[in-house]
Amino acid sequence: MRSPLSLLVPALALLLAGCDAAGDDQGPIVSEADRAFGAEQHPQLLAEFGGPYQAEESAYVARLGGKMADAAGLDGQCTFTLVNSDVVNAFAVPGCFIYVTRGLMSIVNSEAELASVLAHEIGHITGRHVQRQQNRSIWRGLGVLAVGILTGSDRLTRIAGEAATYFTLRYSRKSEYEADDRGLSYLIEAGYDPYAASDMLNAIGRQEEFLARTRGQDEARSIPEWGRTHPLTQNRIERARDEARKTGVAEDELPENEAAYLKELDGLLYGDDPAQGFVIGRRFAHPEMRIAFEAPPGFTLTNSPQAILIEGPDGLRGEFAGGPIPPGGLPAYADRVLSQLLKETAADPGEPRYSTVNGLPTLFLPVMVQTPDGPVALSLAIYDAGDGHAYHFILISGPSTPPAAATDALFRSFRILSETEARSLRPRFINIVRAGPGDTVRSLAARMASENKLARFLMLNGRAEDDPVKPGERLKIVAYSAR
Ligand SMILES: [Zn+2]
Repeated sequence: MRSPLSLLVPALALLLAGCDAAGDDQGPIVSEADRAFGAEQHPQLLAEFGGPYQAEESAYVARLGGKMADAAGLDGQCTFTLVNSDVVNAFAVPGCFIYVTRGLMSIVNSEAELASVLAHEIGHITGRHVQRQQNRSIWRGLGVLAVGILTGSDRLTRIAGEAATYFTLRYSRKSEYEADDRGLSYLIEAGYDPYAASDMLNAIGRQEEFLARTRGQDEARSIPEWGRTHPLTQNRIERARDEARKTGVAEDELPENEAAYLKELDGLLYGDDPAQGFVIGRRFAHPEMRIAFEAPPGFTLTNSPQAILIEGPDGLRGEFAGGPIPPGGLPAYADRVLSQLLKETAADPGEPRYSTVNGLPTLFLPVMVQTPDGPVALSLAIYDAGDGHAYHFILISGPSTPPAAATDALFRSFRILSETEARSLRPRFINIVRAGPGDTVRSLAARMASENKLARFLMLNGRAEDDPVKPGERLKIVAYSAR
């Protein structure tokens, strides 16, 4: 299948070289310095983004990524990681570290489509769109990050969102088109249907539409979806089809490997991971820890393996986490949280206040920290959850007055989950099912273990409501067991 196309690929490469203004005098695409930088960011990004997804699908992503890196002439120079997050995203970090979420995998319908996303991200690397950069976080200005870096406090740099720059980086339209074009040439070089790239953009578009219809406005997450960082327009989708047509490869002349992909996808975790707890809009619930809280409007929550990251209005940032209570009780717990966060930096604790929140003994503690750029206010709330275990919020705000009412509502929302509530939060998985003779889109959608059954079924499978279902056809549903 590859031989008739090998003529085409150099032509495309030539075309691309023409629009690469940067030229070839900048040394290797993936420099040693970039690789060292990427390796340093890698654990921090994973910690903030949901951790690696540890299952067979990870090896599949790494294998497919390796194949696409070969096609781009970066043999063995890239690292591909499947991230345990249900947010639909993929991103590239200098050093050719490329990440794709299981959320993105769930909306993809063929190996060629997934390959096109990986090829697009590689295109941002070879197009030199991804640069090592200083974080533009407001915390650098406030000096909080400076304290984090000076003291080597991983937690503080994580709260300040240092690594987040890469998955919130928004590309220009010019960079998007260039990454699309480069990706297309890698897709063909690897032997995949070039039309898969526009199919993939369509899948992203469907998912964005689905989210817009089903999610409230203040439920936006601080981790953006792929469509927001890689601006998606109708024009871009049409352009991807035009470019595929220009390659002269007929549609379906090259394989998409749909069946192989769906086989890999079968049993993939869908939605939140119960081991990390559930973020449902502004609510957080952890069925194993049996705890829950709710942030006021204007806040966003991001789940990560170690903590929930909290972003509020006026640059308010913080985390929610827990741990065993040391012998000194809640005051000793507070000391430990502060010393982990601030290391040697001097802090000035205010008057502690003891209270009860939803039946739990609670310690509130305000703290002022002097940074090179002036004072920063911390607010702690620590709850004794029984069994020697405590949970805490720590919020960091700038010199402007912290939003006291909102902070108070957050602090007062922490509670223990009832057994019934905990039982209702179960993991869900993608199941690949074969349509039976009498099946319709509606009968299959009715089997979905989710809200918005029909809309979600159509979105996941790239179907319209009146599309006929062929008996024996493989389709995705969401179910409570992995099978
Ligand atoms: Zn892009």
